[in-house]
Order: sequence, then structure tokens, then C-alpha cells
Amino acid sequence: MAEVFYSQRRLAGGVHPPEHKRESSERPIRAAPLPRHLFVPLRQHVGNAATVRVTAGERVRRGQRIGEGEEYVSAHVHAPASGVVRAIAPHPMPTASGLTEPCVVIEPDGGDEWEQMPPWPDWRSRSAFDLRSRVREAGIVGLGGAAFPTAVKINPRTGVHTLLLNAAECEPWISCDDRLMRERSAEIVVGAAILMRCVGAAECLIGIEDNKPQAVAALAAAIDGWDGPEPFRIGVVPSLYPSGTEKLLIDLLLGIRIARHTRASTHGIIGQNVATAAAVYRAVVRGEALTHRIVTVTGPAVREAGNFEVALGTPFADLLDAAGGLSAPTERLLMGGPMMGVAIPDPRAPVIKASNCLLALPRSALAPAVLAPEAHDPCIRCGACAEACPVGLLPQQLYWHARAGQHEQAEALELMDCIDCGACAWVCPSKIPLVQYFRYAKGQVWEREAGRLAAEQAQNRHQFRTERLARDKAEREAELARRRDALMATQGQDAQALIAAAQAKAKAKAEAQVAPQNPEPSPARPPPGGDANGGPA
Ligand code: SF4
Ligand code: SF4
Repeated sequence: MAEVFYSQRRLAGGVHPPEHKRESSERPIRAAPLPRHLFVPLRQHVGNAATVRVTAGERVRRGQRIGEGEEYVSAHVHAPASGVVRAIAPHPMPTASGLTEPCVVIEPDGGDEWEQMPPWPDWRSRSAFDLRSRVREAGIVGLGGAAFPTAVKINPRTGVHTLLLNAAECEPWISCDDRLMRERSAEIVVGAAILMRCVGAAECLIGIEDNKPQAVAALAAAIDGWDGPEPFRIGVVPSLYPSGTEKLLIDLLLGIRIARHTRASTHGIIGQNVATAAAVYRAVVRGEALTHRIVTVTGPAVREAGNFEVALGTPFADLLDAAGGLSAPTERLLMGGPMMGVAIPDPRAPVIKASNCLLALPRSALAPAVLAPEAHDPCIRCGACAEACPVGLLPQQLYWHARAGQHEQAEALELMDCIDCGACAWVCPSKIPLVQYFRYAKGQVWEREAGRLAAEQAQNRHQFRTERLARDKAEREAELARRRDALMATQGQDAQALIAAAQAKAKAKAEAQVAPQNPEPSPARPPPGGDANGGPA
């Protein structure tokens, strides 16, 4: 029987906004139709963009590598459907700025012809290195929204005892992981076992909130049906935002507090999202690269909210159509949930590997501070924000310093520990957009740090060059001295005359190089104070 335990630990802080999960969680996952064109970005992950490997006019098959993640922290990009590459062109991205990035534009042919990797149903006969390589081949990144290349994360430098499978999905409105667990729990369990093999973990602990009883039951059933030797436990935590943050979940389930600047891996724990585990199963056992993901499409005005299996590169506008469109005007589209999601200014932006949710919000659902951030009430020093902060910060003081541009003081109050969860802003009675202030201040600190690092590197480069030149000069002089001594030893008095002649020749040559080649003033150059014709400059 699968071991299911209920954590008795509680978050310090946290909030409980209305969940709005049922709007999308009660329908089975549907396949979103392919759009007329897919816009597949070459950067859908943390790290360097992939290098394009196809050209316009080329036919591609689903799963074919179209972008090569050449750096260690990068990820390959694959064609999400068979069809023809129509262009490699900039296209709006799902970012707050809406800036464009290069995309491979594919016109699907509707044939769904695959280019698969060899399936490995016998994955146990493969080494951890082979399995990690397959994960890299498949272009898998963290599908919980972080989009960090998985092959890098499962190659830890230190020993790992626990694989933490994050199934908390604590943000309101989002239910893609819930549906995945209910419908594909066996895939998740096999994917987790493969990940355990990759990192050498002795146990897999699945962390999930208590508002997903069907998912807990489905996972428990899959674990009961699992015939492998890997031990699994399911740890249930109370539903409280943001308990799904990796470090907080580890604290809730294992009682381990992970300090700032410290990774979970230094405590022998590697975290992965459940959807990532399912993608690993498909890559290894079936030989399928990451071409699709599950996306929650929801919001008060979405006619048929639900979860969709979507080809990466599908424009958000097409995805909204797949969900029946909107029944009322929408003020804002968010990629992600209402607490940490990113506003998307252009609905032509495509679904990427990090897109877990498309949330369409009407004006009435947005806090006044979101619509007019500068129009909030003044801080009344109620202290509610400090009570809500799950990492023990003082948001009110941080706000004062961030607002005054006193970034060093904000840093001294651990600004950089802020996880952008938005719990403080959620409870603030004055509706101050605290997170925006913190994000801006953190951006300033990063910029300053980047400037400091660049200056330090430039100084190091200069020092290195000066030292190298001095070393070269010393070596040259030593070599000359050695040759002179050798000449003196063999030629005696004649050598002195030879050396004097050589020195005179070298001096004359150096002077000839320094002297101007054309001492006459150029007729085209205007004399000081006037142009070439003698007129005023
Ligand atoms: S956004 Fe930052 S300061 Fe506010 S509650 Fe979250 S961690 Fe604390
Ligand atoms: S919750 Fe808002 S009003 Fe209250 S102390 Fe914090 S910032 Fe000020």
C-alpha cells in the first residue's frame, strides 16, 4: 500500500485566496487543435537560446530537432507537428514587455508524422548517464513554470537521497497538474523512478496540497500497481498559498529549512514537477521529445474552461478559441496564475514550455492597484504584510526603501530573499502593489551587481594584460642577454662590434617607424578655425 501522510507543519505566513480550481479541473484533458501556424521560439527555457537547425522551406516531422541547445544550460527545441518551415522570424513573446524573439514558423500539414528517438521500455538496463542524455535529447525543462533545463538539474554535484516530486499546484485557477495526476498517474510514477535513477535518490516523496483528493487517490493507486523497487511516499500539506514553492514544501514535508543562497541539492534533495516526470517517461520509454504540454485555460469569461494538451508554439489567441472564446471583454491575459503570472500584452504570443496556464481576467476581477498601480492608498502600518510573508521578511519596510530608491537598505533587509509570491500585496488593505516595487528594486540590485562584476572583470583583464606584457618583456630581454653572452663566448672582441652594429640598426629602424610618413598637412583637412576654403567652421 502506498504510504500517504499528512504534514503537521504549517507555513509561517501564507494566504488563502479563492481557489477557482473547479472551473477547469472537472473536465478531462482535451487536445487543442493545431493552429494555422506554429511559432516555436528558440528560447523557451532558462539559459542560452537554441541555435536554429532548419531553414525556410524545409519539411519537418514532429519531434525533429529544429533548435540546438549548444550550451550546458540550454535546451533543444523540437518541431511540435509535421509540416513545412515557412520562416525563421521574430514574433511576440509571452513576456510582460511583449518583445519579439526569433521563432521557427511552421505550417502544420495535419499528418502528425513523427521523428522519434528509439523507445527504451527496458530503461533499467540503461545507465544514469544514458538516461540524463535522453532527457537532454528530448529538450525537457521544468514544466512547473521555472523552465530550467532538467538534464542540468538531474546532474547534481553532491549526493542525493530524496527526489521531491512537486504536485502542490498552489496558485489559484491552475489545475493542469491536478488533471495530469488524475489521468496519467502511472506515467508520473515511472518518470519519477527514472529521475530517481538519474540522481541516485533512495526515495521519492510526492508533495501535494489537500485540495486534490482525486489526484492523491490516483497517485496512490499507481504506486500500488508499481512493480519496481523504488519506494514512494505521498506527503499531503494544507492548502495555503505559496506552499508549492520548493524550499517551503521541503520545510513542510521534511522539516528542513534551506537557507538563502543554498540549493536543496546541498541537503541531498532534488525537486521536480509532476509534469516534468511525465515528460521524462515519454522521452525515455516512448522516445518522444517534448513537443506538447498541458495548459489550463480559464478565467471568469472563458466559455469552456479546461485543460488542453497543446502543441508548443500555438498562439494564445488560438488556445482561447479552443476553449470556446470569451463571453465578456477581457482586461488582461496572464500566463500563469493571478499571484505570480505574467501579463501578456499580445495574444499572438505562443505557448512555450513554461506556460502552465492562460488566465483571462475581466476588469472587474482585477484589483484597483493592478489597473492603476500609482493610485493606491497610503500605507497604514497595519503589519498584515509581514504576517503574510512566508519567508519572514518585512514587506512594509522593504516597500519604503524600494520606493525611496534605497536599495542597499532594502538589501540589508533581505530583499533578495523575496520569492515574488505576492502574498503581502494580497492582504494589503491599501492595495499597494508591493511586488512590483520589490521586482523593480531587485532589478536595480541585479543591474548594479552586473555592472560591478563587469568592472571587476575589466580590471582583472587589464591587470592580466599588464602582467603578461611585463612577463613577455622580461623573457625577451633574458633571451637577448643569453644570445649576447653566447656570442661573446664564441667571437670575443668581434662580438662587441657586431652587437653595437645590430643595436644601431635596431634603433634606426625603430625611429623610422615612429617618424610621420607624410609630414605635409593634408589639403583636404580644414585649418583650425575654418573649413577647407578658409570660411568659418
Ligand atoms: S512577495 Fe516577497 S515580501 Fe511579499 S510575501 Fe512574498 S516573499 Fe514576502
Ligand atoms: S499591509 Fe499594506 S498598509 Fe499594512 S503595513 Fe503592509 S504595506 Fe502598509
